[in-house]
Amino acid sequence: MTAKTLNGKIALVTGASRGIGKGIAIALANAGAQVACIATKAENAAEVVAMIQAEGGVAIALGCKVENGSAVTATFAEVEKELGAVDILVNNAGISQPQPLLKMTEENWNAHMDINAKSVFLCSQAAIRQMKAAGNGGCVINIGSIVGQNAIPQTLSYCTSKAAVEHMTRVMAVECAKYKVRVNCIAPGYIRTEMIEQLAADGKLAAEAIEKRTPQRRMGSVDDIAAAVLFVASPGAGFMTGATLNIDGGWTAYGYL
Ligand code: NDP
Repeated sequence: MTAKTLNGKIALVTGASRGIGKGIAIALANAGAQVACIATKAENAAEVVAMIQAEGGVAIALGCKVENGSAVTATFAEVEKELGAVDILVNNAGISQPQPLLKMTEENWNAHMDINAKSVFLCSQAAIRQMKAAGNGGCVINIGSIVGQNAIPQTLSYCTSKAAVEHMTRVMAVECAKYKVRVNCIAPGYIRTEMIEQLAADGKLAAEAIEKRTPQRRMGSVDDIAAAVLFVASPGAGFMTGATLNIDGGWTAYGYL
């Protein structure tokens, strides 16, 4: 059984309907947090909320397109009204739609920068305003990617949006330390989720080759990332801010053939 280290905390997870965000929402609830689960539509997050409630936890589902400023403002106001001021924000919502540079559309570029990067600014601003007003400090965790540091062909917009997330983490961390708010980035390697399954099905990702190139010879699991989130959100990580934690089975460290 998970220790209830986050009892009394209010957490908000974007992209909580499936994959990594779903795993993070369940892990935070198991650790005692009350969790606002955000997806593009509330009904998409209904299943994860039901799973948390079935285990005796507290969770609510809300629909919000995280790249839309007024929707983000309304969603954070609703969460504050329903649960209280946010203590832990996990910026996890994201898309990956690879296109070769010479065929890349402006829409593809804008979608990645808006959903993956601008949303981190919008949601963090909304959460940190609540954290500052409540005066209890807080924790923002941005889900970046190892492709923010490693160049992967055909993914200029995705890689660039994730590099932005990593650097936004550092700027927000140094600016908000005075409010006792910590801001960190978790950069996953390849994690088996619908996003990866879809890319593999579309022939845009070679799953076996990725496993072979990874020193641990496997893709990561949602639980690998959720465990890292629990650590970063815990009091034990109190001196950690502005940092990026790569959880990638050794992918980034590997520099051989
Ligand atoms: P999935 O595609 O499985 O899930 C994406 C989630 O984001 C869904 O909950 C989806 O909600 C939500 N979402 C998408 N667009 C929006 C939007 N405009 N507004 C609000 N929510 C939105 O992705 P993963 O779980 O694989 O990835 C989660 C995060 O981890 C992403 O940021 C991704 O870039 C990152 N990551 C993933 C890796 C991997 O290997 N899987 C590796 C490195 C990083 P809905 O159900 O409503 O569509």
